[in-house]
Amino acid sequence: MRFLAIGECMAELAPTAAQGDYHLGFAGDTFNTAWYLARIRPDIAVAYFTAVGTDTISQKMREAFSQSGIDDRHVQALPDRTVGLYLISLDNGERSFSYWRGQSAARQLAQDPQALSQAMGDADLVYFSGITLAILDAASRETLLKALRNARAVGKTIAFDPNLRPSLWSEPSLMIDTIMQGAAVSDIVLPSFEDEARWYQDADPTATADRYVSAGATTVVVKNGPDPVHYIQDGVTGTVPVPLLSSIVDTTAAGDSFNAAIMAGLEGGTPLPDCILNACRMAGQVVQGKGALVPLDPGFLDQ
Ligand code: ADP
Repeated sequence: MRFLAIGECMAELAPTAAQGDYHLGFAGDTFNTAWYLARIRPDIAVAYFTAVGTDTISQKMREAFSQSGIDDRHVQALPDRTVGLYLISLDNGERSFSYWRGQSAARQLAQDPQALSQAMGDADLVYFSGITLAILDAASRETLLKALRNARAVGKTIAFDPNLRPSLWSEPSLMIDTIMQGAAVSDIVLPSFEDEARWYQDADPTATADRYVSAGATTVVVKNGPDPVHYIQDGVTGTVPVPLLSSIVDTTAAGDSFNAAIMAGLEGGTPLPDCILNACRMAGQVVQGKGALVPLDPGFLDQ
């Protein structure tokens, strides 16, 4: 199986134990999912589609892709741009984020329809998110949605996490409409209930799942923090309880890692409730570690 994630990876500066020192890393929702998928399924060819610059930090990011087992052949290098950056601040244990991504190279990722169709042609499962859509201008958004629609029409599977981030959109109504367009080109939709309820007034996770089925998805898995995961697959619905955890360290990338485990399981023909249980176990490890990319328990990798 060949997997392609499309989106933005950013440089991350995270505070270290030494006062005033920061550690440079790389993270971003779709990249995190690709990273976890490459960890748990080394047999899957994982590629990332994005745009970076040609400067040293862009080069380091590409090296990080390769070192993580992620193929960078579909990464475009734009000479006049560089990658986005975010910095994590800690205030009495609370994390807050400052972003410099307004001019990032990734905003140009969907300007070339040929590059998109070629990359999707090399994949069986294509994954993108609401953040991928949010960072693009209107024309690029159309180009990406069209390429996804075409890919789906020739039998590729399309997976989408709405990842609602109102701060990335000029107005909420644009986000609300465009996310539904993303769902309309997708087979698998992986939303998080808390955000969906706020922006679509869904009364419960069933309403979220039904809305995405009406948009055209065949499989919807609704995450809901520590609460049960609701799913619908080809008209069959169910819920899976989330194993209780004694401590939560940092919920960054919980949903991203969860999505990786769902896609890995579905690809292997695992029944969806079992995929969900596995995804909860994986996300459960991720929320008990710090940062987006948490090394997984070797026992988990052997499954
Ligand atoms: P997102 O990160 O997309 O907002 P959620 O917060 O809904 O997603 O979490 C995704 C998954 O992570 C959940 O379905 C669950 O498996 C796990 N998870 C998140 N928060 C907790 C928690 N407090 N306790 C146990 N598992 C959790």
